Amino acid sequence: MGLILDLDFEHLQEFVLESGEPSFRARQIWEWIFKKRTFDFQSMSNLPEKFRAVLRDSFSFPTLKRCSRSSDGTIKFLWALEDGELIESVLLPYFTSRKKWISLCLSTQAGCPVRCLFCQTGIGGFRRNLSRGEILFQVVGMEKFGGTKASRILFMGMGEPLLNLRETIGAVEVLTRKEGGEFGERRITLSTVGMRELEEFLRNGPRVEIAYSLHFPEENQRKRFIPHPHVLPISRALELLEEYHSASGRVVSIEYLMIKGINDSLDSASKLSSLLRGKPFHVNLLPFNPVSPSSFSPSPRGYILAFKNFLRKSGLNVTIRKPRGSDIQAACGQLRAQTLDGEDSSS
Ligand code: SF4
Repeated sequence: MGLILDLDFEHLQEFVLESGEPSFRARQIWEWIFKKRTFDFQSMSNLPEKFRAVLRDSFSFPTLKRCSRSSDGTIKFLWALEDGELIESVLLPYFTSRKKWISLCLSTQAGCPVRCLFCQTGIGGFRRNLSRGEILFQVVGMEKFGGTKASRILFMGMGEPLLNLRETIGAVEVLTRKEGGEFGERRITLSTVGMRELEEFLRNGPRVEIAYSLHFPEENQRKRFIPHPHVLPISRALELLEEYHSASGRVVSIEYLMIKGINDSLDSASKLSSLLRGKPFHVNLLPFNPVSPSSFSPSPRGYILAFKNFLRKSGLNVTIRKPRGSDIQAACGQLRAQTLDGEDSSS
């Protein structure tokens, strides 16, 4: 049995026609899934009974395995895929005095082959790439079980999206279609450590916003912490991102995880400001969420503030991101690791 969301709209139309139904049934099915978030074919009441049975016998959806709600409103979801793999996604509500918006953070791989030393997903190793349908389902699944409509999509969960390029682009295409998610490309952000596939993605992929996970201002230190051999040198990644920003006008942000005693000194701030000065990027400083097993810990608040002030004085745009969902293990890969640990110990 496959996922119905693995079919793009045209292939779904073909399936509908081969099943002896008129092609408009494809639109009805997508409306049930994307607009009404219904995952039970039997409940798709405007489809003929016989066709609902065909759909039920042919397709499935991932299932919700676990869901944790933080006191700050963050909801973390753990989904079980058909082959038993577990993946995470996170719903992040943001409130200001004037507006509220909901971001959905998606995984693109089960595990991650990049194996960053500071990341729970990386520590857990790589299982496999997700299909387009498994990526897309996280959006409608979170909207359904979170009881809300998303404002933004973030490809920032488990996995490096550029190492699953075809399925990630396929998912973005459906998310931006009128019949699908109806998200504008500006409402989608893809996060990457800067794999060599970045060049192809920026030249030929969808015009989404980019978050470059830089984290370390020096090449040698960065290579130790982000050990995959196909990560681009910092200078090349920044050059590509600057070109992309000028050509597309899309926001490019630089993500910088503040790890105590590793990359949080004023010397690191000075190296970072030399790299970025005069470039059209916004820097996000991220408080580190401890992972296990690892001896890294978060930078003290005072260090983060001093780091930010140094960058500001150097003329950079910089924001300190609020930690979200720390009471529910909301850092990428933590809920999955905790669940697998729990299952291991009980078996
Ligand atoms: Fe993979 Fe991103 Fe984690 Fe690095 S930080 S191991 S790229 S998921």
